[in-house]
Amino acid sequence: MNIAVIGAGYVGLVTGVSFANLGNDVVCVENDREKLALLRKAVPPFYELGLAELLKKNIDAGRLRFSDTVSDGIRNAEAIFIAVGTPSLPDGSADLSAVWSVAEEIAAHLDHKALIVTKSTVPPGTTKELKNFLASRLDVKFEVANNPEFLRQGTAIRDFILPDRIICGVEGDYGKRVLGSLYSGIARPDRPILFMDTVDSELVKYASNTFLALKISFINEIASFCASLGGDIDEVAKGMGLDRRIAPRFLHAGIGFGGSCFPKDTKALVYEMEKRSLYPGILKEVLKRNQLQRMLVIEKLKMLYPEGISGKSVGIWGLSFKPNTDDMRNAPSIDIISALLEEKAVVRAYDPYAMKQANRIFPDVTYCPNAYDAAREVDALLVLTEWHEFRDLDFERVVSLMHNPVMVDGRNMFNPRDMSRLGFRYLSIGRRDYI
Ligand code: NAD
Repeated sequence: MNIAVIGAGYVGLVTGVSFANLGNDVVCVENDREKLALLRKAVPPFYELGLAELLKKNIDAGRLRFSDTVSDGIRNAEAIFIAVGTPSLPDGSADLSAVWSVAEEIAAHLDHKALIVTKSTVPPGTTKELKNFLASRLDVKFEVANNPEFLRQGTAIRDFILPDRIICGVEGDYGKRVLGSLYSGIARPDRPILFMDTVDSELVKYASNTFLALKISFINEIASFCASLGGDIDEVAKGMGLDRRIAPRFLHAGIGFGGSCFPKDTKALVYEMEKRSLYPGILKEVLKRNQLQRMLVIEKLKMLYPEGISGKSVGIWGLSFKPNTDDMRNAPSIDIISALLEEKAVVRAYDPYAMKQANRIFPDVTYCPNAYDAAREVDALLVLTEWHEFRDLDFERVVSLMHNPVMVDGRNMFNPRDMSRLGFRYLSIGRRDYI
């Protein structure tokens, strides 16, 4: 099938590359010149496991190309996926300006029958609005659909090919046929396609993301109680998670969620509900708890340094909002480093992939070539992203490098007793502090 994907970011590029790899002819449209130049050279503009290989393979096979104009991209497309960003506006609502600007382009140039699919996360009702808008502007036959994406950065390619389910909001048989055929290479009895109305599919996406955010904030709230009792939240979470009704994932206490989706989608759902005079009380608390969690590591530092942290040297392990991505969008590290710099601490940091992105936000931080170097002569080390490589370090060497061997583990990566035995003053989230 001929496909156009508008927006070659995390979702659009993974979608385009994966559909091409399934044998479709794909044009990805990207209006960021820098990204486009890289993509045309088969270089992914961001880090994602396995993406570089698939990108090159499908460009070489002639199934994938990149364009800078929607009119060119949609020329032969039977399905057009809109995968542009929908970031938060200051009032919490989703900024749909990129979606509408693409809609304008489609309205101006589409000259044949096609299915236009919102893959971006859009508030319930948007795809129907898109249908009405296009109906008022297009002479050709078309249908709209919504196909929210559930991939996780870090395992995006795998998630696209092996999703738990494929959600397709459709408005007619044509949409069902096109999406059914496109996903036939991916769907299995245990990875079903669910067809539903577009409002329902749009809400599946928001409800899923906010429920996962809720699980994280819930366990973090219990963690604060657990810590006050001298308990261990990891034991509590393990005990809870083995109940099949609860499930273990997203019950990991720490400095909370970040990234481009959970915070933005929770804020957007709050906004959409309040707009309709509904009460999103739970969702508002999810966001509040998440913000509190970020500042916990600073509170812990101040507990150890009651004289203040001005002039103290603080090492950071991990900057991206989660491991296996270089994405810094809404990363807890941003709020934490801002607070450190505001208090006049001196920050040195290491992250395997995100230092280039972080340098754009914090040019005054010293970026280190490895985790050991980030620990050199510091008064405290903060673990902000649970990169796997941090597990296999020589911790005796880390202790010997530090000025004061204080570790505040914001991701509960390590065993407190082990770290204490190694010589750290070790603090973590929802567990006893070894100080
Ligand atoms: P992104 O910012 O990485 O990618 C969007 C891309 O669209 C950018 O490269 C941008 O330059 C391009 N773009 C914007 N306007 C354009 C236009 N008019 N023509 C061509 N290109 C244009 O964003 P993302 O993370 O891929 O997210 C895209 C959507 O998918 C959002 O709605 C997001 O909520 C949703 N989503 C994201 C994830 C994720 O993990 N990142 C997962 C599921 C859903």
